[in-house]
Amino acid sequence: MRFDEPMAAHTTFRIGGPADCYAEPGTVTQLVNLVDVFSSAGCPVSVVGGGSNLLVADRGIRGAVISTAGLVGISSGEPDQAGAAVVTAGAGTLMDDLAGWCADRELAGLERFAALPGTVGGAVFMNARCYERSVSDVFREAECLVFAARGCTLEKHGMNAAEWDYKKSPFQGRTGPDPTVLSEGSTIVVSARFALSRGDRGDLRREMAKYAADREAKGHFRFPSAGSMFKNDRAFGKPSGKIIDEAGLRGFSVGKARVAPWHGNIVVNEGGATADDVRMLVEEIRRRVLETAGFDLECEVVFAGDWRADTTFRENTV
Ligand SMILES: Cc1cc2nc3c(=O)[nH]c(=O)nc-3n(C[C@H](O)[C@H](O)[C@H](O)COP(=O)(O)OP(=O)(O)OC[C@H]3O[C@@H](n4cnc5c(N)ncnc54)[C@H](O)[C@@H]3O)c2cc1C
Repeated sequence: MRFDEPMAAHTTFRIGGPADCYAEPGTVTQLVNLVDVFSSAGCPVSVVGGGSNLLVADRGIRGAVISTAGLVGISSGEPDQAGAAVVTAGAGTLMDDLAGWCADRELAGLERFAALPGTVGGAVFMNARCYERSVSDVFREAECLVFAARGCTLEKHGMNAAEWDYKKSPFQGRTGPDPTVLSEGSTIVVSARFALSRGDRGDLRREMAKYAADREAKGHFRFPSAGSMFKNDRAFGKPSGKIIDEAGLRGFSVGKARVAPWHGNIVVNEGGATADDVRMLVEEIRRRVLETAGFDLECEVVFAGDWRADTTFRENTV
């Protein structure tokens, strides 16, 4: 556990002020104890994974931040009733590591998540989607810590297709303004189970390399970022990046935050960007796109922490 921990060290944006207290439990028991101790002290608890979809405020995060990044581990079990291979991964396992582990055991279904930044817990929570495949396509069950002020419980949450949609999972919907902060009845994903099919190791590894190379070529890792800034809304009829391009905003900047000159839907930290730079840039993009195209862009990146008084900005949609 660390105090006044700079969140910039724990986000792929490399932005974010200090968390009052930051803890990275290595076991589920430690996680349960930490959450119970903080909640019984009336301390708000934020949950983060790999920090790859987060913009943390410059003022940081009040209360405790618990990262599930330390809950790593992968195992395979008995095939399910439909004969699919079942693999279980701890919430902190990197999606890229999980895809590689599965490929090496000739298990197919996760190769499109190769090189996706972040953890299993974050990908399940966000229902991450890569190359037309969503986590919900392979998700079967999660073990979750259900938060309750009177004491948390560990529960299983099985697949129910009606609860999932594009970038929506049943684990979202925490009730406060900050979607990382636990509220009564909300969950921390502790581990997740996926149903996979059989594949050829060489083919799967080649597929993974192809997707990783595509991300590289598209400039995903050229500068610190949180990936796509806005969701793609099918009702718009075109990707958000294209809409932003058409509004003439490629390369547009505020301070050290810039719309990537090579991709309209990626905002990059050119070095030393503040969270306020990113936020102002996002507000301006939304304003101009609404004005010129009539589309109200929805943020995909989660705004976490102490943004204080500004209630006019509707950044969080998860
Ligand atoms: C270069 C780049 C490319 C990207 N490309 C894609 C892409 O192609 N597709 C895509 O979908 N995303 C993409 N992303 C975004 C990001 O990688 C995903 O959203 C990822 O799944 C987030 O996982 P994380 O562990 O980093 O979560 P975090 O960013 O740490 O957290 C995101 C949310 O998940 C919650 N959360 C995290 N862990 C848990 C847990 N264990 N239990 C409950 N809630 C939890 C947090 O409270 C928060 O609300 C990209 C990001 C980058 C930087």
